[in-house]
Amino acid sequence: MSIYPTLTNKTYVVMGIANKRSIAWAIAKTLDEAGAKLVLTYAAERFKSGLESLASELKQEAILLECDVTNDEAIDSTFRSIHEQAGEIQGIAHSIAFADKEALRGEFSEMTRGQFAQALDISAYSLTAVVKAAKPYFAQDASVITLTYLGGERVVPNYNLMGVAKAALDSSVKYLANEYGPHGVRVNAISAGPIRTLSAKGVGDFNSILSELEQKAPLRRNVSAEEVASTGLFLLSGMGSGVTGEVIHVDSGYHIL
Ligand code: NDP
Repeated sequence: MSIYPTLTNKTYVVMGIANKRSIAWAIAKTLDEAGAKLVLTYAAERFKSGLESLASELKQEAILLECDVTNDEAIDSTFRSIHEQAGEIQGIAHSIAFADKEALRGEFSEMTRGQFAQALDISAYSLTAVVKAAKPYFAQDASVITLTYLGGERVVPNYNLMGVAKAALDSSVKYLANEYGPHGVRVNAISAGPIRTLSAKGVGDFNSILSELEQKAPLRRNVSAEEVASTGLFLLSGMGSGVTGEVIHVDSGYHIL
């Protein structure tokens, strides 16, 4: 018997697939396995062909749309298109972040005003912008997830500016959950343990973060993107129907230390 809930005929939007290592790609595969109709968004035209070839591995044919989350008009028109092509939206996986990599190493206070604004815009504000644009098209029991990291709760060496962005994201999850709850929409975050992805490469001495977790976390191992995706499926499907405004840690228990 499959452990997967059935999501047949339900539309999910997955934002933030850069390549096959992306956490968003693991989420897309898991939703596809559960029968969901997928819309995958990419940041700019140059990423389209890579995403097309990845999407060809899915069981169901996915809709691919460009959406740069720094552009409100682009976000609005993407969600209008999603509604026209795929009906009401059952869920969104927001798996997007960016910070200048110079601000992800060395002294925290060396960052500039511009680096701060850009990181907060792309990594935190974009969640609110996306939820706002999707509002008219949400299904009655829709669910939104975003990806966060422990560095927003406490100091993790080199995470620096992205830690501040994740703190803003975590707080946005709570405010959005409170605002959208009366409309039946749930908003949650998954705090993933460190996973080798393109974004992770930007964090200074990322290998030390991985090995520290492996040595000290209760499970004594790192987590996979697939484990994050299973929790994503739980939150995005009816299985997580009573959960909102939550941050679930999928990090081998490291956060309890
Ligand atoms: P990826 O680099 O694979 O994914 C990051 C995604 O963000 C990319 O697809 C990137 O698109 C997208 N993005 C950046 N800027 C924009 C923009 N302006 N508009 C639209 N999309 C944009 O890395 P991960 O899978 O690791 O990251 C996904 C999420 O998981 C992030 O929020 C990250 O902080 C979080 N996370 C990651 C952890 C890890 O250890 N890997 C741990 C905990 C949380 P493109 O490359 O096409 O520009």
